Amino acid sequence: MKNETFDLQEKLQALLKAQRDISPQGKVANYIPALAEINPNLMGVSVATIDGKVFGAGDDKVPFSIQSISKVFGLVMAMNRVGDKLWERVNMEPSGQPFNSIIQLEWEKGIPRNPVINAGALLIADVLTSHFSSSKLAFLSFMRTLSDDKNVYIDKHIYQSELSHGNRNAALAYLMKSFNNIQADVPEVLSHYFTQCSVSMSCQQLAQSLLFLANKGVDPRNNKVICSAKDAHRVNAILSTSGMYDQSGEFAFSVGLPAKSGVGGGLIAIVPNHGVICTWSPRLNRFGNSVVGVNLVAAIAEELGVSIYH
Ligand code: GLN
Repeated sequence: MKNETFDLQEKLQALLKAQRDISPQGKVANYIPALAEINPNLMGVSVATIDGKVFGAGDDKVPFSIQSISKVFGLVMAMNRVGDKLWERVNMEPSGQPFNSIIQLEWEKGIPRNPVINAGALLIADVLTSHFSSSKLAFLSFMRTLSDDKNVYIDKHIYQSELSHGNRNAALAYLMKSFNNIQADVPEVLSHYFTQCSVSMSCQQLAQSLLFLANKGVDPRNNKVICSAKDAHRVNAILSTSGMYDQSGEFAFSVGLPAKSGVGGGLIAIVPNHGVICTWSPRLNRFGNSVVGVNLVAAIAEELGVSIYH
């Protein structure tokens, strides 16, 4: 990163304040009613570096619903479990469609475009359900290990709310099942998927938990191999092309970092060989990405002079 000596902590505070000072844009997700209960003005940012520094500002220690950011961790678990065979059941192309789109899935015979749209994440949920005796516990334990915090928890209220408003995800899973691309029972797959989406974590925890993706698969805090360097590269590639759904092209064009958003308002961006940026602000744009998150990650990347396309 450009100019390591400047005070990132102060810079993050100033960048966050700049976002607070402009009139709020975007809307909190309400298709999962429990997500709409959040205070839309909460805002946090954290930056963790592979050499062990953690910077933060605002509500960086407040846990929020990680939602689709969980797809990154689920993907890593599935890659570790089934290896290259995974790519026979899910593709690695951008979809150019909203995250919960169903239309492409029928044309493409039940093979999801990529593992980070909902169809792909449900496919991954099926892999995990089928390969772990308790995939939900395995997922939670993976998150607790990576965040080094055994208090990371599943928000049951969010889980219930998603479960009772999950018809579109159910439709995606049943459509894949009709093409024989889902092995377990659909309710079990949905239950795993909603569980991982309902995990609550803070910006600070997420940024640190993803350091392995900035460090060729190795957690720099303890030198533990979380995935192979090749798989870290693949996850970053997928996040670059698809992590921001149908805003991925624009995000690559203007920022240039592998990133993943969640409808809880979280956004993570990987800076390979340097660290991870995580932001949280619940108001979303029409793509389901946090408005402030996109602005903040862009501003931080510019400030640090980082982009994978430099
Ligand atoms: N649980 C959410 C859903 O299935 C996740 C979507 C998201 O965060 N983009 O709709």
